Amino acid sequence: MSVLWPAVLMARALTCSIKGIPRGLIVEPSQGCTGGCTECDLSDEPAALKSEELDEWLKASPAKPVTIHFSGKHSDPLASPLLKELTDTARENCSMLSISTIGLGLKPAQERLPVDRWIFSIPAATEKSWETLRGNNRFGEALNTIRTVQQKSRAMVEVVFTIWKASVNDIEAFNRLIQKENWQHNRMVFGRFDPEGNHFGRLENIALNHEDCPYILTGHDKLILKNNLQGCPLAGYLFLDASGILRPCPFTGDESPHSAKPEPESWITAREWLEQKKKRSYPACEWCP
Ligand code: SF4
Repeated sequence: MSVLWPAVLMARALTCSIKGIPRGLIVEPSQGCTGGCTECDLSDEPAALKSEELDEWLKASPAKPVTIHFSGKHSDPLASPLLKELTDTARENCSMLSISTIGLGLKPAQERLPVDRWIFSIPAATEKSWETLRGNNRFGEALNTIRTVQQKSRAMVEVVFTIWKASVNDIEAFNRLIQKENWQHNRMVFGRFDPEGNHFGRLENIALNHEDCPYILTGHDKLILKNNLQGCPLAGYLFLDASGILRPCPFTGDESPHSAKPEPESWITAREWLEQKKKRSYPACEWCP
């Protein structure tokens, strides 16, 4: 890391602030997924973001982001055949780069990608609950991926246990894994409800049986947030999806504003989304914990 890194980071943060552009950009490398869950219905030809598209968007922005975070919606960055190229492009255009993944399908040498942080999201901490949720048993593969990255990458490694109904009793098992696997950075979160009914976020998977779950069930299969939350957890971020569309966050869809043209006006328009995000006025905000 260059000795100029802190100065560049501060200059980028200042420019973002002056220009009113969020400091973070979440990028979806691919709409494909490596999870292979039995009940998942993914496209056979998922969109994959090209590094040229990412570059075009970044060049059009009035302010380079401080942070770029590769993540997915119902997808995983490791499904992208272009992850190396995307990583190189992102690396040149930000000060901190991270990848969030389910840790399945790691290809040779990907553990050495030049990122600052790997975030592994696991839906269970035992084989049994993993199998119940995903319909396959790749728990060991996920653990092996995390070990490989711990051993071969200099990046920070964080493990996030997402609690679902089937894994609600895995909290102790996760705590044991933290010790056994030396996961120094770790946290637990509750799974997010997905009103579209895709992915794990289906109603049947939400851990409503845990007292700390952010949702309660009312009426006919209708979930609501327990607390009247203020603000937006992703106020400092925008989302570029794998088809090259800029959106307020990974959870808003075509019913909310979005821009398909990588030009400065799209970034200027995106500045106006912040107030709506803070007011939680998009339909997806209703279920955003
Ligand atoms: S759904 Fe709404 S509250 Fe949640 S991250 Fe997106 S804009 Fe913010």
